[in-house]
Amino acid sequence: MSRAFIREAEPTEPRCPGCDAPGEQVGPATLKAHLPLADSAALGERAFYCVASGCRTAYFNGWGVSVPADRMTATAYPKDPAGPLCPCFGVTVEEVLADARAGHKERVKDLMERSRGPEARCVERCPDGQPCLPRVLRLFRESFQTP
Ligand SMILES: [Zn+2]
Repeated sequence: MSRAFIREAEPTEPRCPGCDAPGEQVGPATLKAHLPLADSAALGERAFYCVASGCRTAYFNGWGVSVPADRMTATAYPKDPAGPLCPCFGVTVEEVLADARAGHKERVKDLMERSRGPEARCVERCPDGQPCLPRVLRLFRESFQTP
């Protein structure tokens, strides 16, 4: 199936009703892991997650259903700036920044190893259903200082 066909079939991507940003598309596995059953059921099979930290909306779909972030069963960065950057391994922004500024690569290297194994369950554990490693690496690289 070509990309052009997909675009024709779904002409408009819904935008977050709270902040008008486009969301990350998520499936039922992600929704069920982060919301009470009634909320994930109301959103259906295809919903979107708003990653904006200042926005109170967490999930929404193309039919006007939205669920606020305070109904989520677990928090994560960047919705909660103090929440885990990587819910699979519990790594926080603070830890990654501290390592980067001190020039310590051990934790990130360890994470790269472990992210290939069965502990990495990003589809369920990350609220946007996306792999958490690229987020960790981006933050680490941006702040890395040679000691
Ligand atoms: Zn939003």
